[in-house]
Amino acid sequence: MEPASGIAHGLIERLGRSSRLVVLTGSGVSSESGIPTFRGEEGLWRQHRAEDLATWEAFERDPELVWNWYDYRRRIIADAEPNRGHKAIVRLEGDFDDFTLVTQNVDGLHERAGSVGPVELHGNIWRARCTKEHTIVDLLENPLSPIPPKCAQCGALLRPDVVWFGEPLPMEAYELSHQAASTCDAMLLVGPSAVVRPAASLPLVAKHNGAFVVEVNPNYTHISALIEATLIGKAGVVLPKLVDALLDRRSGMRSRSDRQDTGAENEVKEQTAS
Ligand SMILES: [Zn+2]
Repeated sequence: MEPASGIAHGLIERLGRSSRLVVLTGSGVSSESGIPTFRGEEGLWRQHRAEDLATWEAFERDPELVWNWYDYRRRIIADAEPNRGHKAIVRLEGDFDDFTLVTQNVDGLHERAGSVGPVELHGNIWRARCTKEHTIVDLLENPLSPIPPKCAQCGALLRPDVVWFGEPLPMEAYELSHQAASTCDAMLLVGPSAVVRPAASLPLVAKHNGAFVVEVNPNYTHISALIEATLIGKAGVVLPKLVDALLDRRSGMRSRSDRQDTGAENEVKEQTAS
């Protein structure tokens, strides 16, 4: 039987029964807010490819150019709004006691939608890091001035607090996400997810530890064959339906278990009375 959402009943049932849920998001959830991935031909900015700007080498060569590119991206993000996909994830977070949101996005839109403390695997474009002291600061000024920005403490150049090509993931974020993936009983991937390890390995870690793994994606991916189900479609369309069905199911489960609890209490009272 399929519920009104068009999502298989068994899938809702299984996700609904889980108690430790991890949601892992990639660029798909941001693209519906109009945020480009800045990859490939469409991602060209002043004839530069992202792959040639988002590196330490590019920054060392021309910090002003790299910061101008980030300033441009920050302005696009500031004008964007969280979409129905972001908001559906906030509703999930409110319904699960043990919930971890892990994101590969750097735009901060999950927080703007209302998510609390997402684990940011690739950093956040609204923060910067001192290149000398490595301290991390909020950098909310939009548009930025001056470019490149400098550290208020020591005067050294600030760099965006994001992970560039060839750089490792921030240790704490990686450990948190790995821990969550190892101990969850369900994981929801909102793709497309990175094909780059180690972020790409998180669904496999979850799967290996017995979790029920479902992806929401416009297309099948290399990971589809390895997990329980792929819901084909855009995050902003599929996620609200999935979350509606899931929260309905969980609220049904709770009221049934309340009734059972009351029944058990009556039984005990009857026994005491006899
Ligand atoms: Zn400094």
